[in-house]
Amino acid sequence: MASKWIRSDRVRWFVCLSVSLLAIASDASPALRRYEAVEPHMGTLVRVTVYSPTEDSAKTAFRAAFDRIGSLDRILSDYRPDSELSQLTKTAVNRPTRVSDDLFAVLQASQALAQATNGAFDITVGPVTRLWREARRQGHLPGPLALREAASRTGFRHLHLDAARRTAMLDIPDMALDAGAIGKGYAASEALSTLTRLGVRSALVAVSGDLAFSEAPPGHRGWKIGIHSETLELTNAAVSTSGSTEQHLDVDGRRYSHIIDPLSPMGVVEDLTVTVIARHGLDADGLDTAVSVLGAARGMALIESRAGAAGVIVQRTAAGTRVLTSSRFPRRHGSNRGGAAVVYR
Ligand code: AMP
Ligand code: MG
Repeated sequence: MASKWIRSDRVRWFVCLSVSLLAIASDASPALRRYEAVEPHMGTLVRVTVYSPTEDSAKTAFRAAFDRIGSLDRILSDYRPDSELSQLTKTAVNRPTRVSDDLFAVLQASQALAQATNGAFDITVGPVTRLWREARRQGHLPGPLALREAASRTGFRHLHLDAARRTAMLDIPDMALDAGAIGKGYAASEALSTLTRLGVRSALVAVSGDLAFSEAPPGHRGWKIGIHSETLELTNAAVSTSGSTEQHLDVDGRRYSHIIDPLSPMGVVEDLTVTVIARHGLDADGLDTAVSVLGAARGMALIESRAGAAGVIVQRTAAGTRVLTSSRFPRRHGSNRGGAAVVYR
């Protein structure tokens, strides 16, 4: 697949500044330049930014990162009937089935989060999310009977993992797994690891709104990540954002999110935008969705319970907008004048 890639020091003045400063500062090692590439993967655009000594090394890095994401998409997609995730719902009914390390990592993290949230986060919610996807296309709510039938084929307690044997088993037929809440964050961090292994110290991978980044760009203290109204300089972390601003269904004055509360099983109606910072995208992406289901109060308690996590919840109600920040949220660097949930550069 052709990638569109740009040397972004042509586009942004602050990058020009960093390139020239670095060239003065380091005589011994070759100057690093900023390169960016964009490719479509996982039903969205993936942007990779690297600091590399040459165009060729940047291209090699891009290819490896995009290939890693492409292979994860073939494993984790619930849109592809031939993905390992989709196949599992046929092959693993009442039969422990060996799965790849990647799929196992995603299933294991999902099950841990399901336990911690009493099923508010549930990777087995697939039959219900499919109904809601169709409902959004049609513009009306899913029928109660169809919802009840779909919900009868869900439940994280019907998914059994064996870490020693790396197997997964489902104990009812016609289940559907949906890794949409956690797969993009996992992919961003995994692609970043691929870049690190290739020797790229400073890189950022953005799978849509799920970011993972390594060391600071040369001459900077960190990657500038604007979260809600603040700009932070961060290194070696992942940032994921979840909310109903992009995908939702409006019916009779109510906005139903694409995020489902498996208990109801309806689209969440509380208007939240949740941003989570964690060491790995698997945690950041899983948590942002879990918090969206749990709501502001219980969601913030979940973030606080995770030693490696911090987050911001923006809660909009008829009374106004409230911004809740977790105790471990990094200190402010400047204001994010764009006001978007998350921007980065
Ligand atoms: P995110 O944007 O990370 O919050 O992920 C949203 C996606 O997660 C949805 O489009 C569904 O595919 C999936 N999803 C929805 N509700 C849940 C849930 N309660 N638990 C796990 N995944 C969910
Ligand atoms: Mg998520």
